Amino acid sequence: MNVAVRALCEFAARQGSLEYNNTPSPTAEQGIQGHKIVQSRRPATYQPEYLLEGSCLGIQLRGRADGYQPDDERPLLEEIKTHSGEVARISYDRQALHLAQLKIYGALLCARDQLAEVSLRLVYYDIHQDQETPFTTTWSCSALTDYLIILCRQYKNWHQQERQHRQQRDAALLTLTFPFNDFRPQQRNLSENVYKAISTARPLLLEAPTGIGKTMGVIFPALLTLPRQRLDRLFLLTARTTGRQLILDTLKQLQQAQSHSIPVRILELTAKEKACLHPDLACDGAACPLALGFFDRLPAARQAAATLQWLDSTAIKNIAQEHQICPYYLAQEMARWCDVVIGDVNHYFDQHALLYNLTRANEWRVVPLVDEAHNLIERARGMYSSYLPQTAVFAAIKQSPASLKNGLKALQRAWRTLIVNHIDTEQVWPNNTAQHQFEHLPKELNGALQRVIRELSAYMSEHSLNLALQELLFNAISFMKLAEQFGNHSLCILTAYRLGNTGRVRASLALQNLIPADFLAQRFEQAHACVLFSATLSPARYYQDLLGMPEHSCWRIISSPFSSAQLTVRTVAISTRFNQRQRSISAIAQRIINQYQAAPGNYLVYVSSFAYLNQLQQQLAIDMPSLTTLSQTPAMTEAHRNEFIEQFRNSSSLVGLAVLGGAFGEGIDLPGEQLIGVFVVTLGLPPVNAFQQQLCQRLQARFGQGDFYTYLLLGMCKVIQAAGRLIRTPEDTGVIELIDERFNQPHIQALLPAWWPKTQTI
Ligand code: SF4
Repeated sequence: MNVAVRALCEFAARQGSLEYNNTPSPTAEQGIQGHKIVQSRRPATYQPEYLLEGSCLGIQLRGRADGYQPDDERPLLEEIKTHSGEVARISYDRQALHLAQLKIYGALLCARDQLAEVSLRLVYYDIHQDQETPFTTTWSCSALTDYLIILCRQYKNWHQQERQHRQQRDAALLTLTFPFNDFRPQQRNLSENVYKAISTARPLLLEAPTGIGKTMGVIFPALLTLPRQRLDRLFLLTARTTGRQLILDTLKQLQQAQSHSIPVRILELTAKEKACLHPDLACDGAACPLALGFFDRLPAARQAAATLQWLDSTAIKNIAQEHQICPYYLAQEMARWCDVVIGDVNHYFDQHALLYNLTRANEWRVVPLVDEAHNLIERARGMYSSYLPQTAVFAAIKQSPASLKNGLKALQRAWRTLIVNHIDTEQVWPNNTAQHQFEHLPKELNGALQRVIRELSAYMSEHSLNLALQELLFNAISFMKLAEQFGNHSLCILTAYRLGNTGRVRASLALQNLIPADFLAQRFEQAHACVLFSATLSPARYYQDLLGMPEHSCWRIISSPFSSAQLTVRTVAISTRFNQRQRSISAIAQRIINQYQAAPGNYLVYVSSFAYLNQLQQQLAIDMPSLTTLSQTPAMTEAHRNEFIEQFRNSSSLVGLAVLGGAFGEGIDLPGEQLIGVFVVTLGLPPVNAFQQQLCQRLQARFGQGDFYTYLLLGMCKVIQAAGRLIRTPEDTGVIELIDERFNQPHIQALLPAWWPKTQTI
């Protein structure tokens, strides 16, 4: 059993409470830099990154002390921790954890060199003040060895249990059977492709129609590969929370169908906003009762959780409640110990992704399986974008102490210079913005931002939470971090506007990612394999290009099990362009009414905007007052969305109006008579504006596919997703009407699903 010294201590030596840091910890780069600075000040005989190995209770330990100073009488080992602010504010528990690591190194050194004692120096290095605070102690070999044995005993017991769990898990998975008598049509093909891709360690883009049991078809073979490919973890990731329940249901179905128990630990990761039981408190032992003594009670809670196979959010909440600890952080801990982790795409693809960081740190062999993967590009763009509002500086000045005012005012001046240098403020009037796009990052804010980050970090590490200061600090750090990696994958845009009540000009600076590939490529590299699946992943080149998938990725289209006889597709040559809307709205309403009168039932109508939706609803009410319509509204809650869907289940004569690409554009299931027709009243093209044009240029320059990647593909992806709500099972039948004259153009027809019948033109 090989264990890193750091992992041993993280597991067995942590105690006390969760601590809230209202300043970000030094970044990895700052940490590396800080270590180098301290190490460079040591004598020539000092050996940095000193490797120590040894064994205890059958555990092979390995780790690198930050420094070793040989000495005939009493050598010295050193551990360096970077921080900012007063050392006195580093809690006793945290210091004890840092010292634990050093004590284990000390024990290994004593055993190797048969020393009676050793000096241990824990150095806190303040990255902003360039100041070292050393704590040196001398330890006897016996005291260190006793300590090592205590930690190893705890670790060994747990790891024996984990090793046994792994053996049982793998043995049981070798006998896993499909939960139904047979695969659905095309489901076997889909499963074979998943199995093959994981077995050959290739990323897979898998386009498969809804209704063939896609979720089961992906999860089942992936589980089969766990023992066969010696995989550590499967990550089941969704781009929308709506897909989460389906994954949980599928796993439950699989488990229940087996003749014997399958000991696979399954964990559901929930967002902090949903899991937190004290949203008004800080995650700190001094504030939240569930943070107090968290690490003292964690071992018992972890043990209780490990005996369960099923750790969905309810199970985690129950265990947390029983042990009086925070459910959110308990779930984070259990992510280390579960075989299948269900989460959001940001848990693996985001800048600070938990699952990605654990994968790297533990060198796990993992396979992320991404449902509704066509959303990943847009989600990833958000993950690698940052926004810096000038108003945050004003808010911070109001709430800042005198010691911070100079730095903040210098930042304010820098903002003014930035605006004056790049924006003609005469062109900024109420309800109008002016923008400037930078080829290279502007330099005006740099010095002042760095000063503010330095001063705020130092101040906040010693004072209680101040939301305005914290927001400014976190925004500034996030911005600077992405700014360091600025390239032609992103835009840097300065936007100026006038404040409504004062008329003063204010601005914001945004780093907007356009091509997430440059950030995501390493996520695909780190995984053993990866399966991205969706009903719309064509053309593969688009997803490979934008997501940075490796060249050896494969792409498979699973043909639909549905027959073209189930479907009638009509194209209706009515213009839906903005300037034609007023004239076309009554013709569109009439089309819907005609179809409804010919075949009464439930229909969904997708339009381009809420404004259009309201216009159409009014027209329908005028033209056919007896028609029951139901409209999507902006910012519907989950409960309201469920109500909307429920009405289709309980009615047989309903026309629902929704916005294309919105909450009802995908991920909803209305089989049989619940839905007999879909109208798509737009091509779904994104609006042509300055931003889209920039995107188009970048994609043209990088991939030679500007218009296609920016406009047409995105629009048609939404159209096909929406139309896909109609046929969910081989028994379903219905009609799709695509209303826009451009649907008849050959290059657009070429993007319609191959199994659809030839379109009829009206
Ligand atoms: S319950 Fe909420 S406030 Fe308390 S530690 Fe957990 S997440 Fe933080």
